[in-house]
Amino acid sequence: MTALVAVSLTLSAAALSFAFYKRFASEAQKTLKTLIAPFAAESSQTAIAKLGAFNRDLARISVIDGGGGVIYDGEIDIAALANHADREEFIAAIRYGEGESKRFSDTLKKETYYYAIKLSDGAILRAAITTDSVFGSFALALPAIIGVLAAAIALAFIMALRLTQKIVDPINAVDINAKFAAPYKELSAFADTIAAQRERIERELAEKTKLMDLRREFSANVSHELKTPLTSIYGYAEMLCGGMVRKGDKLEFYAKIKDEAARLIALIEDIIMISELDEGKRGEAFESVDLKEIALETIEALSFKAKENGVTASAEGEGVIRASRSMMFEAFYNLLDNAIKYNRRGGKVKIALTRIDKRVLVCVSDDGIGIAQEEQSRIFERFYRVDRSRSKKTGGTGLGLAIVKHIALFHGGSIEVKSKEGEGTSISLFFNAP
Ligand code: ADP
Repeated sequence: MTALVAVSLTLSAAALSFAFYKRFASEAQKTLKTLIAPFAAESSQTAIAKLGAFNRDLARISVIDGGGGVIYDGEIDIAALANHADREEFIAAIRYGEGESKRFSDTLKKETYYYAIKLSDGAILRAAITTDSVFGSFALALPAIIGVLAAAIALAFIMALRLTQKIVDPINAVDINAKFAAPYKELSAFADTIAAQRERIERELAEKTKLMDLRREFSANVSHELKTPLTSIYGYAEMLCGGMVRKGDKLEFYAKIKDEAARLIALIEDIIMISELDEGKRGEAFESVDLKEIALETIEALSFKAKENGVTASAEGEGVIRASRSMMFEAFYNLLDNAIKYNRRGGKVKIALTRIDKRVLVCVSDDGIGIAQEEQSRIFERFYRVDRSRSKKTGGTGLGLAIVKHIALFHGGSIEVKSKEGEGTSISLFFNAP
């Protein structure tokens, strides 16, 4: 702002000086002409006589003979003057009857206008006015210009300061945590950005808090779940150590300890698995996985358990997706394990693979005990078990379906349950086809 004021003020002062100078110059020339033009018909003697009466302040009058010698000068002693035959206005007047010119003196500060006419006797009558040159008049105005400039710069500085404050103060006063209304309309885009950002941060924070709550809940549940089998093991062991178990019952106690230890191991394995999925640590490379192969492997792995429970398992259909092979096995295993566990003797379990448009559907269905409608939304929660005692008896951890859901989501898929109490359950996984 200061620079702008300085430059514009200086330029306008220069332009003004120039305009005034131009105006003055043309005035001076006109004055000279009207002053001496009427003498053209007169002789040098009469002209000198008449012009001697002129106000010397108006113009300097000289008369020069045809050879350039000055024969009269209103201001200067003619003896001190050099021959004027080389002067521009003199040469022109001799040749054309009149002539004019201007010359600088005192190194450009002053400027003199000359006008000359030829008199009846051949002598030259010349008038001259000396004024300030354009530089001179600018130099004269300079102190005033500098004064105004200093005042303008000071004003510009103060105004710039005020203006900046007016713009910046509302921004500095913004309470990022409160809703930020734009104090002037130029700030509304900024206010919108802040609002959007605040919203995003709040959302992210809420998500983070939710996640942290879930983790805390999970940790609490883990401790509780681990404590139960350990307490049992401790109890059995204590009774054995204290000699409180009859010889014939000892084997049963050993078996109980073994079962509880096995449950503990299964639980810990599931906890490790779900923690790794949570941390995103299981960065297995995806490969092309033939789901039919996985289904048959799972049936094979659980064939003993199926036989024990009097359940038959089969697989049908085809399906290939890009996935982590070990995770797919884990998911199939948990689903089939449940379908066998929560079943009745003579029950049938089927793994069906179907391709629907761009998706591959894995459906594990059974004709077992089913899940009540009100429980169906909760079975994917960690440690959630519909019937605690039955789940415990079958060695369930309550983490199986949580892991399956996690694996499905990890592969960009989804999970669905359809079930009717007493009729059976089918759990479906949907994956994107490659
Ligand atoms: P669990 O280790 O107890 O099997 P899951 O997470 O695998 O835990 O399953 C949660 C609960 O959902 C089970 O306790 C069970 O009550 C119910 N459930 C799961 N699969 C089936 C099924 N195929 N039929 C009936 N109930 C099931």
